[in-house]
Amino acid sequence: MEYRVCMPRGRIDTGGALGVEPNSIPDEQARVLAEAFSASPVPAAIVDGDELIVRANRAFALLHGRDHPSELAGQPLPEPAAPISRVPLVVAGRIYTLVSLDGAGTSDAARAGGSGLVDRDQLMQETERTLADGRSCALLVLHVDRFSTIVDTLGPAEADRLLETLLARVALATRAQDALCRLGGDEVAVLLRHRSTAADALATAQWIVRLAGEPVELDGRSVVTSLSVGVAVANPGASVGSLLREADVALSEAKSRGRNRAVVFDPALRAVLEERSRLEYELRLALSGGRLELYYQPEVDLVTGEVLGVEALARWPHPSRGLLSAGAFVELAEQTGMAAELGRWVLDEAAGALAAWREAHPGLVMYLNVSAMQLGQPELVAEVRRTLDQAGVPPHQICLEITETAVMTDVDRSMRVLAALHELGVDLAIDDFGTGFSSLAHLKRFPVQLLKIDRSFVDDLDDDDGRAIVASVLGLASSLGLEVIAEGVETGEQRRILVDLGCSRAQGHLFSVALDRESCGRWLAARRRTPDGGGRDHPS
Ligand code: C2E
Ligand code: CA
Ligand code: CA
Repeated sequence: MEYRVCMPRGRIDTGGALGVEPNSIPDEQARVLAEAFSASPVPAAIVDGDELIVRANRAFALLHGRDHPSELAGQPLPEPAAPISRVPLVVAGRIYTLVSLDGAGTSDAARAGGSGLVDRDQLMQETERTLADGRSCALLVLHVDRFSTIVDTLGPAEADRLLETLLARVALATRAQDALCRLGGDEVAVLLRHRSTAADALATAQWIVRLAGEPVELDGRSVVTSLSVGVAVANPGASVGSLLREADVALSEAKSRGRNRAVVFDPALRAVLEERSRLEYELRLALSGGRLELYYQPEVDLVTGEVLGVEALARWPHPSRGLLSAGAFVELAEQTGMAAELGRWVLDEAAGALAAWREAHPGLVMYLNVSAMQLGQPELVAEVRRTLDQAGVPPHQICLEITETAVMTDVDRSMRVLAALHELGVDLAIDDFGTGFSSLAHLKRFPVQLLKIDRSFVDDLDDDDGRAIVASVLGLASSLGLEVIAEGVETGEQRRILVDLGCSRAQGHLFSVALDRESCGRWLAARRRTPDGGGRDHPS
């Protein structure tokens, strides 16, 4: 089937009388037109009156993560990734619409199908020339988020294909005068010419981030990745070196704000970055010097008031900043390669504490937070086993808390590690439940026994919607045979509502803040069970 543009934009004619009659185009010319549509670097699709795709071109397919345009045939038009133009078409008396993405795909790189890259030297020279001519420009530095995990998961060849696809999408978002360069590994730089304001450059960068977030089909599986982008806009006196450094600083900021975003450099960022490096250095020293502390927050039975377990939470007594909560440094530890070491220390400390407390509280469960990084390491299983053996703690008294986001970072590998941990006999909980992907399909596959309802939902228990959410999580958990713990319970009212809704386990400031080992020991001793005191063991 060939489709021809036969109406000027904005006019619709169903009769075909004003348009070119379908049969009046010779076959060869029709093929040329169809070929031009297919090969066009501008992502475009033709949709019918029901907005279903009749035909898409390669650029459009690529943009939406498909290898072949035919995969999109008959599908509804995806949510546009960029501003679109719509041109009505009449072909053989039927109305269609040509949908194309505005301004996309006009760079050299896009024209060459994502391979028209300049090398590093060329990029430097072109940037220098642009600056010397006093023309406005901006430099973007891009990183694929968690690329090493992607390489580990997909293998280097597939990871490279993924990178090619992402590069082609970057090209789609740039203009003819821009230059694209693969700096090495997963690092890419883009010179944007004629962009004089931060807002202009940021708009392009944000578009790139948006396009990169569309799924990529690789070997029949759909892979979702994201990009972080640092943006530096040339000011008078800028040099290639200063632009690159500024873009790098902005890139680090984009990553530390949670990745999958673009950040424009501003001078305040430099100070932030220096501060972060200092904190990282101090944290490294504290961790290796054994100066971190592990605190414990009790988990109680809302009905009987009995203590069921404790969650280990890391603390850092900082020489000048006071006692820092995990929220203030755990992410930094994870971003700077300290996750495994932190995890080993926590495991060791916690196993020791549990061994000491078991005498008074035989069934006490120790909850440990596990980061995405740890889940990616198969050694975790052996480490857990060894530590528990050494401390003489049975595995079913350990529950590892993982977030949905951590699992989703690399589902297959996480699944293997989780299965091995489950096999070992430790319990698994989904932490911060409701804030991540909450994919039911995945939830069923994970060998988890417990959900921890995030504090934000407990906070909302005072309104109807908030109660409805918690009620539905409880319903879901019970139909999947999972236990539930509510986090961050601060008021008696929240406790009452939770009990009404059927949730009987919780932690939060209402019962206790996180306590150091000694204080927690005293707290537990004050609640020591009498020999006939019953009490509830953790279900396994
Ligand atoms: P999380 O696992 O969701 O831990 C709960 C956080 O809420 C803790 O903050 C806890 O102190 C705080 N909290 C508990 N009850 C209440 C309450 O009633 N009200 C309020 N406002 N807050 C409450 P913290 O210790 O700063 O930990 C923050 C996050 O850092 C944790 O969130 C966890 O994801 C992570 N984390 C903590 N310790 C470790 C660790 O040893 N390893 C790893 N990988 N992550 C950890
Ligand atoms: Ca937790
Ligand atoms: Ca939590």
